Amino acid sequence: MAVLPILITGDPVLHEVAQPVTVFDEALTRLVADMFDTMTEAPGVGLAAPQVGVGLRLFVFHWTDDTDTLYRGVAINPELWLSPTPIGDPDEDDESEGCLSLPGERFGLRRAPLATLRAIDLDQRPYEIKAEGWLARIFQHEYDHLDGVLYADRLAHAPAKAVAKSIKKKGWGEPGLSWLPGTDHLED
Ligand code: ZN
Repeated sequence: MAVLPILITGDPVLHEVAQPVTVFDEALTRLVADMFDTMTEAPGVGLAAPQVGVGLRLFVFHWTDDTDTLYRGVAINPELWLSPTPIGDPDEDDESEGCLSLPGERFGLRRAPLATLRAIDLDQRPYEIKAEGWLARIFQHEYDHLDGVLYADRLAHAPAKAVAKSIKKKGWGEPGLSWLPGTDHLED
């Protein structure tokens, strides 16, 4: 088991478009296992490779829905189809999102209610998941990471200003900052 340091906003790899996975070797298998360990320890419901400093198009997810169905897996070279995102302001209670690369922060953000994920697993087997609600949100959040987009980049003007202020206050927004789940305990 290896828990990896999670990069904090400001590191270039978080803000660049990640590259497709082309080599399926032992190192990739280990990376995925370590990403699961890191996500569990954080704890989080999703983790994308750029968050652990690897600019490749893959993310892991772990989510149990209202009917106790567990969705857990790795999405390699994913594609995502979305329903339209509803217009209007997000509900701060039901639509607030956080990110392990902006630890302790939460802001409301509208997302598409439906998402279809197509990806391959470590055995290069293709699969598809039709997601709704929070799982659809997780897929959109993690997929964004692969395009170098943090949810803070999608916020409306006022919350974007609030998050920028918080980033400045905490001294984030520079390359090389990270935290280690299970070791570093960050305050909200
Ligand atoms: Zn995130």
